[in-house]
Amino acid sequence: MTALHKNFIAGDWIEGVGTVENRNPSDLTDLIGHFAQAGADQLEAALDQAQVAQRAWEAYGIERKYSVLMAIGTEMMARAEELGILLAREEGKPKAEGKGEVYRAGQFFTYYAAETLRQMGDSADSVRPDIEIDVRREAVGVVAIISPWNFPTATASWKIAPALCYGNAVIWKPANATPASAVALTEIIAKQDIPKGLFSLVMGAGSEVGQRLVESPKVNAISFTGSVPVGKGIATAAIQNLTKVQMEMGSKNALAVMDDADLDLAASLAAGGAFGGSGQKCTASSRLIVHASVHDEFVEKLVAATQKFKVGHALEDGTTIGPVVSERQLNENLRYAVLGQAEGAELIIGGTRLDMPHDGYYMQPGIFVGSTNDMAINREEMFAPLASVIKVDSYEEALHTVNDTNFGLTSGIVTTSLARASHFRRNARTGCVMVNLPTAGTDYHVPFGGRGDSSYGPREQGTAAAEFYTVVKTSYISSGTPF
Ligand code: NDP
Repeated sequence: MTALHKNFIAGDWIEGVGTVENRNPSDLTDLIGHFAQAGADQLEAALDQAQVAQRAWEAYGIERKYSVLMAIGTEMMARAEELGILLAREEGKPKAEGKGEVYRAGQFFTYYAAETLRQMGDSADSVRPDIEIDVRREAVGVVAIISPWNFPTATASWKIAPALCYGNAVIWKPANATPASAVALTEIIAKQDIPKGLFSLVMGAGSEVGQRLVESPKVNAISFTGSVPVGKGIATAAIQNLTKVQMEMGSKNALAVMDDADLDLAASLAAGGAFGGSGQKCTASSRLIVHASVHDEFVEKLVAATQKFKVGHALEDGTTIGPVVSERQLNENLRYAVLGQAEGAELIIGGTRLDMPHDGYYMQPGIFVGSTNDMAINREEMFAPLASVIKVDSYEEALHTVNDTNFGLTSGIVTTSLARASHFRRNARTGCVMVNLPTAGTDYHVPFGGRGDSSYGPREQGTAAAEFYTVVKTSYISSGTPF
């Protein structure tokens, strides 16, 4: 019997009303552990204590908060190797990427540690004489954080760190597919000098614990990353209580390769952006929009770049693409590989399940050519190691195709023309634009988010996060009347 990993609720580690088992997608014989599932009463206890703890945390003072966040971030960075291996073991990304993710997650905490000391307000004169105005931000209250499995530590951290920085309590519902990373991060947070119940971990199914959480009137704000249908359901629940909501829901990102591009660079950006993390990134470039005059040469180089990837066990040296996260995800991916061909695209390599020495969810990266932008493979987020090439005749057609989507998270262009790069940067209708860079890969100190179905509500990360995690208070102070 492997260990039972408990929830951290209202300041105590407690068993749940059930458990789920967590297995390594690289090797299904590797049982990582059993993880508690929070019951309805336990969630209520977490929420009640969070309300009390939040007021205590707000009164802590900024230097004490700074020390807490700095200690969390510093420990995560120091333990990036160990925690990165755990993350890779349960999620399936290569261990170097797991380590990188944990280190980056630590940087979110150290960044927001510093931000605790930089919280400034505004002052102004009233339009009425002898009255001064003070404008400052205050914590929004109890924040529910619902995070996905694809970046289980980084996504949670870019939500938890600003939530705590700006004075809020946190109830965290991580994805049930990656609970071990959640317990590891919670252990680090739980041992800090924080009020009892300021931070609770409530593992459990999204449809149960998650749904109850987003419907609770005790929650003042919800930050969610995941799929569009779940996001829409959360928004519907949130509006019943007028709860503030912020959502990031994936995309259908395009990389445009122009006739003046460095094609070796373009192929390497396209392959890395499309297949890194097994394509399970909201910033993955799953649409490759290529000028007809360089199409054939680009495709040849893309195939060569893709064939250099080594699909394998996430913890083995040399692996550059691990398995996908789950059987359900693998089956969806294989369905898209078949669907794309039925729609008329040609699958020139990959797109099939791989038999490996270990029983896991392995898939060969696949490339479609001859696809058009109206095909389902170019309209729906697949979250798969699959990329589609769309041939276009001009820059104008490329830009139009990039923007012809319901989503709008990231987009990219590969070009040596400054004029085109500038025009693209100004006219791509996405929240993030990349010039001669992969569509995936963003920084932690600047805003992150998209347009259309990709995002809803204020931006995440950087100082922009203050918009979501705080409310503005405007105070009028009279100096005209003697005491
Ligand atoms: P979901 O949207 O189902 O899951 C995201 C998070 O929401 C998880 O923690 C999940 O819990 C939780 N959740 C699920 N249902 C509810 C609910 N009713 N109320 C509150 N929380 C809920 O995504 P999946 O993991 O099922 O992935 C499906 C697809 O979503 C992917 O193939 C991809 O296209 C997209 N996706 C996009 C991501 C992104 O980065 N933008 C991240 C993840 C997925 P639990 O899983 O534990 O049940």
